[in-house]
Amino acid sequence: MSEFCKKIIASIEKAIFYNGLIFYLGTSIGVAIYGEEGIDNIDDLIKAADIAMYQSKYKGSSNKYTYFKREYAKVIEEQTEILQKLEQLDFDSSFRLHYQVIMDPYLEEVVKVEGLLRWQDGDDMIPPGIFIPIAEKNDVIEDITRWVFQRAIRDMKMLNTFYDVEFIVSLNVSPKNIIDPDFMDFLKGLESRYDFDVSNVEIELTENSSVLSLAHIRSRLMQIKTMGYRVAIDDFGTGYSSLQYLKEFSVDTLKIAKELIDNLTNSKDDEKMVSSLLVLSKALSLKTVIEGVESKEQLDILKAMGCDYIQGYYYAKPMPLDELIDEYIVKGGHGGTSNI
Ligand code: C2E
Ligand code: CA
Repeated sequence: MSEFCKKIIASIEKAIFYNGLIFYLGTSIGVAIYGEEGIDNIDDLIKAADIAMYQSKYKGSSNKYTYFKREYAKVIEEQTEILQKLEQLDFDSSFRLHYQVIMDPYLEEVVKVEGLLRWQDGDDMIPPGIFIPIAEKNDVIEDITRWVFQRAIRDMKMLNTFYDVEFIVSLNVSPKNIIDPDFMDFLKGLESRYDFDVSNVEIELTENSSVLSLAHIRSRLMQIKTMGYRVAIDDFGTGYSSLQYLKEFSVDTLKIAKELIDNLTNSKDDEKMVSSLLVLSKALSLKTVIEGVESKEQLDILKAMGCDYIQGYYYAKPMPLDELIDEYIVKGGHGGTSNI
């Protein structure tokens, strides 16, 4: 059966060349076998194959096959429960937007902040790594992203009014948002609605999927640029993007994935990879943010390579707004990020 799945995946994953563009199709397969894992009728068999297929999808990357296990049914139940809660949630009372600083490591100054969503569910904190992928498979991601943008702009305006600080805020969007025409209208209306300079908002779209190879996503990103927003490609180095077409639609920032940094201190290959990415992105006049920097050792290597900006626990974890104000404005006397 595994050989059969591999053959199906191999036949579908071949790149399709159309109209000068390359398309990749992903496959997610679920396998359930009659007589195994307690499956003893046709209805359960189909349901089990479906659950296993969703499990393949949930693993995040395409081209996977998964054999059904009883415990997956529990996972699906939990995901359904999270989705139901999200659909009825009062965002204002349950969500918090935290901010993580992105630093210039030479001047030791904040250059931007990334807004990262937190969900306090009673006594539990549900991590975004759990609920965002569930929300992304449903319409609720649209409401979530709007909430995040409105909250971030409100917070940044407050910093501007009360502390005379102008921060650039970087916010995550899902590919589903980008293809949604209503979301584009929402972005268009934000500047006038909030009387806020949208060139202080950077929109992060992950590279960790093949979406960036899609012509309509790239044209949407161009529209976003035309509206005046900045655009960043997140988790760079783990997906399929070519630097050349990132340049074509004027991406501002590349965020180099933490996975490439984790072994920087003991893998010469990873070191070469990161340093070549930095050289190439410099040649294309892109600014880079290195994500997930946790130690001084990593920082020193990256500085020696001439990296631009750093984000990671070495400097600070994501924090609530009041902590950002205390640490980086009141104590740090930081004057803002409008100079980058
Ligand atoms: P991301 O966009 O790649 O965000 C970076 C994640 O890495 C954050 O996790 C951050 O806390 C964590 N991180 C930063 N520096 C370090 C480090 O030095 N070490 C380690 N171990 N981790 C570090 P977080 O906040 O749990 O967010 C996880 C993911 O959830 C984000 O990954 C993003 O994909 C998604 N997410 C968070 N907030 C939003 C949102 O408002 N909208 C959307 N669409 N996705 C969001
Ligand atoms: Ca991000």
